[in-house]
Amino acid sequence: MRIRFLFFWTFYLAFFVFPTDVQARDWEEYKKRHFVIYYNKAPQDFVENVEEAAEQYYDEITRNLGFRRYDNWTWEERAKIYIYNDADDYVASSKAAQWSHGVASPKDKIIRTYPAAHGFFDSTLPHELGHIIFREFIGFKARIPRWFEEGVAMYQEKAKRWGSNTDVLKAMDAGTFIPLDELTHTRLTRKTPTAKVQLFYAESASVVYYLISELGKQRFVRLSRKLQDGDDFEETFSSIYVRFKNFKKLNKAWVYYLKNE
Ligand SMILES: [Zn+2]
Repeated sequence: MRIRFLFFWTFYLAFFVFPTDVQARDWEEYKKRHFVIYYNKAPQDFVENVEEAAEQYYDEITRNLGFRRYDNWTWEERAKIYIYNDADDYVASSKAAQWSHGVASPKDKIIRTYPAAHGFFDSTLPHELGHIIFREFIGFKARIPRWFEEGVAMYQEKAKRWGSNTDVLKAMDAGTFIPLDELTHTRLTRKTPTAKVQLFYAESASVVYYLISELGKQRFVRLSRKLQDGDDFEETFSSIYVRFKNFKKLNKAWVYYLKNE
């Protein structure tokens, strides 16, 4: 579990590293409906599997989030996935952090990774695609807390949702639980202790899961739509989830839910 978690937080942090240079080199191209895969030495069947999985996730994530009639990733608008030859090539060429396994740049709709990236199909790919699809929907004007942004990305992972509620409950028992108010102002850096980073992601996953699965997808879509205006998140949030005047109220309901589910 620990190693698994360690792996998870490495690429979450990596999300905030935005390599800007696409290396000028002769990439092989594999173009399909919504994606263009760029690669050099990656085996052809791996490339095809990535494309197929990405297509499936594209539909699944859109459905997961309740975003209907969402199909603007064709032709010039296709997302790009760069598959580097191996870990060294990936780190050297993408300027990503040594410990990361994949990075997404939502503005450019680009994902960079390499074939041996652990958990690639079940975690990295849906997580990073989740970031891109969600950001594209709410727009870059939207101001949202990191727990919300990461929680939505984690909602797309196959396994990550599982276990996060238990971890949050454990933190409550241990007295380390971070209330939502505080979570909103928590900043993660490379120096943040691992346990705190893990808790941050567990809480993010848990609260977003609560919002979507318990309080309804429709309301979540309405919130997402309203976020496009770029207004204050907490105010926008309480205008849709009227039961919660502020994060304190949401925190209370979420904690109650966790203790009684
Ligand atoms: Zn992330």
